[in-house]
Amino acid sequence: MARGKKIYEGKAKILFEGPEPGTIVQYFKDDATAFNAEKKDVIDGKGVLNNRLSEYFMTGLGQIGVPTHFMKRLNMREQLVRNCEIIPLEVIVRNFAAGSMSKRLGIEEGTQLPRPIVEYCFKDDSLGDPLVSEEHIAAFGWASQQDMDDILGLALRVNDYLSGVMYGVGIRLVDFKIEIGRVYEGDFQRLVVADEISPDSCRLWDIETGRKLDKDVFRRDLGNLTDAYAEVARRLGVMPKGTGPQKPTLVN
Ligand code: UDP
Repeated sequence: MARGKKIYEGKAKILFEGPEPGTIVQYFKDDATAFNAEKKDVIDGKGVLNNRLSEYFMTGLGQIGVPTHFMKRLNMREQLVRNCEIIPLEVIVRNFAAGSMSKRLGIEEGTQLPRPIVEYCFKDDSLGDPLVSEEHIAAFGWASQQDMDDILGLALRVNDYLSGVMYGVGIRLVDFKIEIGRVYEGDFQRLVVADEISPDSCRLWDIETGRKLDKDVFRRDLGNLTDAYAEVARRLGVMPKGTGPQKPTLVN
């Protein structure tokens, strides 16, 4: 398929104009970044795995009635999605303490939280995506009260879905980040889960061994990142034999 004009290049994906108005092609790169892009590398096959895994999670969410921007996967590295206006928030859901929450509050990593905790960060790399409260979100007009109610509902439904799917394959969903997009349909607008859901944006620990199967492998130099993501894909039955990251050069 001929590619449309490049719209935006982020740390892990490139967005191109899609074939129809209101559509976008998301291209998954192999680039990995952490600590606000201070640590960078190219990880062979990561984009192929994330494309497949995100397709799997977004499709599953759609099947249980959680709206997403996902339309279809086009090839090994690209998927067609609905164009939406991204709300400038990173919506984080935590089931166990880890990462910045453990640091901020002095809670040991792995401690189960009394209930899922939803946090919001303002999406701005130059500020390091600072944690913000609903007061900030309302005062600066990033989202309305109705949007916030909908976002909380979406975040908790994604959490229940993802926790269950992961638990079924022996993986603990420690925390994850989603982004929410606004889609306009005539005079109406609705919110959908956008961006991607992949081990880049989740913390996934093997329930038996505690092995990390997410981007912390890269952040903390714990081994081969592609092996970890491939293990998640293998357990979910996502990558059929022969289409794995061993041949990522087929589409570039
Ligand atoms: N996360 C993400 N993008 C970000 C920040 C966080 O995908 O820009 C994810 C991260 O992978 C983890 C969860 O959100 O699954 C919570 O991250 P945390 O606040 O602990 O930040 P970190 O320790 O990664 O800096």
